[in-house]
Amino acid sequence: MRDFDIIVVGAGPAGLGFARALEPTGLRIALIERQAEAELASPPVDGREIALTHRSVATLERLGAWDRIAPEGVSALRGARVYNGRSPLALGFDPEGGGDARLGCLVSNHLIRQSLFETIEGQPGVTLFAGTGVDHVHAERAGATVALADGRTLTATLLVAADSRFSMVRDQLGIPAEINRLGKSMLVARVSHALPNNGIASEWFDYGQTIAMLPLGERRSSAVLTLPSEAIERIAAYPPELLAAEIERRFDQRLGAMQLVSGPHVYPLATTYARHFASDSAALIGDAAVGMHPVTAHGFNLGLQSGATLAHLIRVAVARHRPIASPLLLRRYEARHRIATRALYSGTNLLVRLYTAEHRGARFARRTGLAAARMAPVNTAITRMLLRH
Ligand SMILES: Cc1cc2nc3c(=O)[nH]c(=O)nc-3n(C[C@H](O)[C@H](O)[C@H](O)COP(=O)(O)OP(=O)(O)OC[C@H]3O[C@@H](n4cnc5c(N)ncnc54)[C@H](O)[C@@H]3O)c2cc1C
Repeated sequence: MRDFDIIVVGAGPAGLGFARALEPTGLRIALIERQAEAELASPPVDGREIALTHRSVATLERLGAWDRIAPEGVSALRGARVYNGRSPLALGFDPEGGGDARLGCLVSNHLIRQSLFETIEGQPGVTLFAGTGVDHVHAERAGATVALADGRTLTATLLVAADSRFSMVRDQLGIPAEINRLGKSMLVARVSHALPNNGIASEWFDYGQTIAMLPLGERRSSAVLTLPSEAIERIAAYPPELLAAEIERRFDQRLGAMQLVSGPHVYPLATTYARHFASDSAALIGDAAVGMHPVTAHGFNLGLQSGATLAHLIRVAVARHRPIASPLLLRRYEARHRIATRALYSGTNLLVRLYTAEHRGARFARRTGLAAARMAPVNTAITRMLLRH
């Protein structure tokens, strides 16, 4: 008899959401996370403001996590604008219906993690192994074995990797992945500003820099600045007043005078896409499957969706007394998640290339509107994704 039905490596949003979605099955689930339990229960602020789609909100509601987030932690997103250098508006994303309609909403990553963790605390069948990493994994048709860093060994019918975009589990399963290290980093910081943002997110691709402002109330935003990594490291070391002035200047004073509220946090940029999302007795979810560029704000949403898709297939299998790790089930998961992600992943990377390339052809395409025309299908796909219920 194996120790568990399923071992999940990584208690980030994808791993937690997946474990929670299996609650009706009563399956025995091991959740392994190298962060300490106290950190999972009260995650530190990490500066990430997650733009949740309507679909993700509905999923969080179903999982019992949404009601645990205080209303003041949720900021309405009424639209998004993408600008290119000094040219007029390049792309716009608006909700259907106008008026008070929302494109989605923004919630801090640490609040989502905390609420998801609360839902699995005390869930029958879930055993948490916190404060210990995974050293080694092995999976074959007959099942999976996981060796923990503290020397314990666990066995299960199915192994699920939810251990982020540089997934060690994915590597040890021998699943190759496309990995693009972009040589740039993102600096995120909360700022207050003199002028209102009207609930509109702005993304500005200027020469040599990309800067976004995500609305967290009328006069407060999350500033997201992307530059070559050395430049970001230098700016991140500025004292608070200098940093606020730098962000204000780089945003061309469009929101008036700024002050630093919290941060900064720095994230090196890399995009990843696994060649397969499953192998014998194993599956990849969340960033371990698809590590999106944050520019279109879909990584979390797709990660939550991947866990929901796999959990749904497993719930159906359990209800029909079928195996939970059959090759057919895992192939179905892979096919569904590929359809959900491939076009958005490639489209997002294309958008980033078109709007950040500095060679003459790219500048010409941007100036003449060719870039916007080429991006029209991506724009439609992104808006549809944001609005999907
Ligand atoms: C600045 C920024 C802004 C973003 N904004 C958005 C947004 O607006 N909308 C959106 O949809 N997405 C956004 N994203 C992306 C989103 O944050 C990620 O897609 C999401 O966090 C991925 O969740 P995950 O659970 O797959 O991985 P993670 O959140 O990376 O969690 C992985 C977990 O696995 C654990 N772990 C790793 N290795 C091991 C191991 N060997 N053993 C045990 N545990 C391990 C880690 O400690 C961690 O807790 C943003 C990302 C960044 C950087």
